[in-house]
Amino acid sequence: MATAMYRPALGSATTAFLARKHQMLIDGQWVDARSGQTFAVEDPATQEVIAHVPAGDKADIDLAVAAARRAFETGPWSRISPAARQRLVWSLGDLIERDADELAELEALDNGKPVTNARRDDVGGSIEMFRYMAGWATRLNGEQIPVSSPGDWHVYSLREPVGVVGQIIPWNFPLMMAAWKLAPALAAGCTIVLKPAEQTPLSALRLGELILEAGFPDGVVNIVTGYGETAGAALAEHSDVDKIAFTGSTEVGKLIVKAAAGNLKRVSLELGGKSPAIVFPDADLDRAIAGTASAIFYNQGQCCTAGSRLFAHQSVYDKIVEGVCQEAGKLKVGHGLDPSVNLGPLVSNEQRTRVVGFLEAGRQEGAEVVTGGKVMGDQGYFVEPTVLARTDRTMKVVREEIFGPVVCVQSFDDSDLDAVAKFANDTEYGLSASVWTRNLKVAHMMARKIRAGTVCINTHNYGDPAWPFGGYKQSGWGREMGKEVMEHYTETKAVAARL
Ligand code: NAP
Ligand code: MG
Repeated sequence: MATAMYRPALGSATTAFLARKHQMLIDGQWVDARSGQTFAVEDPATQEVIAHVPAGDKADIDLAVAAARRAFETGPWSRISPAARQRLVWSLGDLIERDADELAELEALDNGKPVTNARRDDVGGSIEMFRYMAGWATRLNGEQIPVSSPGDWHVYSLREPVGVVGQIIPWNFPLMMAAWKLAPALAAGCTIVLKPAEQTPLSALRLGELILEAGFPDGVVNIVTGYGETAGAALAEHSDVDKIAFTGSTEVGKLIVKAAAGNLKRVSLELGGKSPAIVFPDADLDRAIAGTASAIFYNQGQCCTAGSRLFAHQSVYDKIVEGVCQEAGKLKVGHGLDPSVNLGPLVSNEQRTRVVGFLEAGRQEGAEVVTGGKVMGDQGYFVEPTVLARTDRTMKVVREEIFGPVVCVQSFDDSDLDAVAKFANDTEYGLSASVWTRNLKVAHMMARKIRAGTVCINTHNYGDPAWPFGGYKQSGWGREMGKEVMEHYTETKAVAARL
């Protein structure tokens, strides 16, 4: 790679956005942090500072929560019809679609991810999320409940929005995580304080502009940029927040649970993973190789569902290792804004340091580095796509979430599915898994035996707004997307009337 990382030109809309002063959205107004503090946002491919955003903290969270409370209790939002809510949520999808190219550029610049993927998956997925969730606004209903108590009764349930929601999101899919959080909460009629990750706040701020343009009333969505330890912690422990939704590391997820205990706010968590991709001997090997390589290298491996433990049956092990290494070699590495790039930098220096530490630990524990294993270039946070073979369950690289383009391959020789599942389930996580086979029975029996919230057959990293997504074990609490997510943003009230 050339020493100086070349940054492709930005479109005029993105250039204009970057040139604007960046402020936080509180009560329908763009404001600075009360402290006046800001922090720098960088392009992880060039390490250039591209923007400064407010460093919001507890004082700003207090204002944002108060605005969200007013909007929930007394604002026009509290009286809006479900159909009007549906139209607003839908229109946000339309505005994102209008500005799709700009948002994709912003995401590639801020996070480092390939712009082609950002346009298709991050932006495309966000549009679809708002459109799918819009429909729930008019479909949330309670039930009439037949009861057996003596006398005549009319008993029914109501579904009400849970109230003021705090949402804390990570840096791996900045816009899409905002969409996953905001869309169902808005459809349910909640009001929101959103805290984007410090590394990637820009697309959320652009989304804030679209939220105002769509016509959401003041205070319905508030966006506070800031650090997790200050702004995030203040939101998680706030006594006037009814629910907190968090996506990020398992470690911080546990802090969120503790912080939420003060007022017993509702909590949903999407946390880490160490997902297995299991290749059986009868798999279509070309598909399995391409699919398991993409399972780990997509988004530079910074996916909570990344297929980071690759289990290959002994009889296909060599072919799989060789094939995945070849796939790694085909990836074009470079600035995410280059439309032909498939692998960008990691999001930050901190993240690269973490990943490099894991690579070092893997070597020390005896893993064989078949390809990759090093940082790339001297500018930007690039790490080579890496295949570690001869790994085993005792190794740190196999047990812990690396969140980088590093796959640990293990072989199995069992034909007993329970034994294979035991292998795959040997982790404290349970977010996702993939099974690669042409045998229907093997595929569906494995889907039952794997202890994870999602299982993919002959694919990995699947997603759709209708697909309930979430984790078993330490991968989290609750489900996002699908009809299941609406449970998190509503309370059920039971009403009994003596007739
Ligand atoms: P993280 O610290 O868990 O960050 C996720 C979000 O939580 C960010 O908005 C962060 O704010 C905020 N946060 C941090 N500390 C907080 C606290 N005490 N109270 C409330 N909010 C807090 O993740 P990270 O440091 O960016 O990454 C570390 C590791 O987490 C990764 O290597 C990866 O293993 C895992 N991770 C998982 C996912 C996932 O999708 N499951 C996503 C990202 C990271 P700041 O960004 O401002 O600190
Ligand atoms: Mg952090």
